[in-house]
Amino acid sequence: MNAPFKPALLLPTSGFAGLAAPHIVAVPTQPLESPHWLAWNASLAQTLGLPAEPTGEWLQVLSGKVAQTPWCSVYSGHQFGVWAGQLGDGRAHTLGQLSAQGVLQDIQLKGAGRTPFSRMGDGRAVWRSSIREYLCSEAMAGLGIPTTRALAVVGSALPVQRETLEQAAIVTRVAESFIRFGHFEHFAHHGHTDALRQLTDDVIARFYLQCADAPNPVLALLEAVIGRTATLMAQWQAVGFCHGVMNTDNMSILGLTLDYGPFGFMDAFDLNHVCNHSDREGRYAYGQQPRVGWWNCGALGSALLPLIGDEQALREALARYEPTFQEALDAAFRRKLGLMRPRADDAQLVGRLMRLLHQNRTDFTLFFRALSHLPREAGADDAVRNLVLDRAACDDWLGAWRARLEWEDSADGPRQSAMLRVNPKFVLRNYLAETAIRAAHEGHPEVLAQLQEVLATPFDEHPDNEAWAAAPPDWAETLAVSCSS
Ligand code: AMP
Ligand code: MG
Repeated sequence: MNAPFKPALLLPTSGFAGLAAPHIVAVPTQPLESPHWLAWNASLAQTLGLPAEPTGEWLQVLSGKVAQTPWCSVYSGHQFGVWAGQLGDGRAHTLGQLSAQGVLQDIQLKGAGRTPFSRMGDGRAVWRSSIREYLCSEAMAGLGIPTTRALAVVGSALPVQRETLEQAAIVTRVAESFIRFGHFEHFAHHGHTDALRQLTDDVIARFYLQCADAPNPVLALLEAVIGRTATLMAQWQAVGFCHGVMNTDNMSILGLTLDYGPFGFMDAFDLNHVCNHSDREGRYAYGQQPRVGWWNCGALGSALLPLIGDEQALREALARYEPTFQEALDAAFRRKLGLMRPRADDAQLVGRLMRLLHQNRTDFTLFFRALSHLPREAGADDAVRNLVLDRAACDDWLGAWRARLEWEDSADGPRQSAMLRVNPKFVLRNYLAETAIRAAHEGHPEVLAQLQEVLATPFDEHPDNEAWAAAPPDWAETLAVSCSS
């Protein structure tokens, strides 16, 4: 057997913040036998200095056959609002780092076997969940929303038991760091104040250097994370993205969208939409996400309190979440409506639209895209009106929107192109992910590659793949996604 390939570019690391066992441990992978490519992200590969074409050597590495021992970390967290105790990298091994134009990126395999933090799990991931994570990471990047990235998916025939018997895959994830709120909560909960301080200092030094000179650097860090989280929530809401499992262990300290599981982009707009079928109470419904983001920042704040040492300052920092979120959301919806100059009653216009879309279960993505094409003069409105059952209510709203455009003397050309740059034509609807998954199982991973390419530039027209902009077909009505993957 050949010795494992040791890629020169991959810099070995042993964890973060100088932490050692039991917090961070070296854990060998269990490589997949007879792996094959399901996806290779050529453009991300190139930014990491890797070849555009996948090689046999990288197939080995990304299927878990690695020369140096990777590491896994412990974290804890609140799941569905309840303290869940110890979790950790149960199926994620970090191999090392690659440099993307001078910025070091952690390279992590998800699904490469059991770790000391696997608990009852098998350490594996299946084709379905790996393809979904790959596609959604890249779809979010294409939309300009902060996210972990995905470099590749490797498939194998290894059977894995889920609701049915499935096959194992590994998705390779890329991010500056996968540190979560749950890492801080873990050390705080166990009274490991030294580790908590080490971790906090490391995160400030590497990612939030501007906080280092603040009078209270840890408070400044919390404020910065609150700002990023609130902004991220506004970005999710503005594209109709539901994460599905906003537990604190799935919240990135860098404000990235992290851990793609039972996520979904809304088709028919419903404020109460729940994409995760395991979420019976709708804790993580679309309309709840901003509030949950705040709650999660509260959990992070509690964990950092021993270092901040000022409860009143902590409360004030948390109180700034809401206005930050609202400002980002208002700005995002103003852009979606093509409004260049803010006006005091804009929130009312947006609120009226949300009610209209909700009551009519209008397709969120199609509506804003069609609206982007409308001229200021009333007339050829059918492309929008046909999306809304209650035509009269739609006309009323369009009248108010047009009056608003008149007020700022909006010019059609620049406004329409600005709207087309923020209202995507293509989002990763569930049925599209399902189409790519089925094609991969039928031996056609090229569908996945094609879909990823379209989602990478979701604001552009893709005439050859026009069909992928459509609302879901009938067969997709019964699709369900849940936590188990
Ligand atoms: P998630 O809900 O996917 O974010 O995972 C929550 C926790 O369960 C994390 O600690 C994961 O590492 C762990 N986990 C999820 N699925 C598996 C699995 N198949 N094997 C081992 N650990 C898992
Ligand atoms: Mg997770």
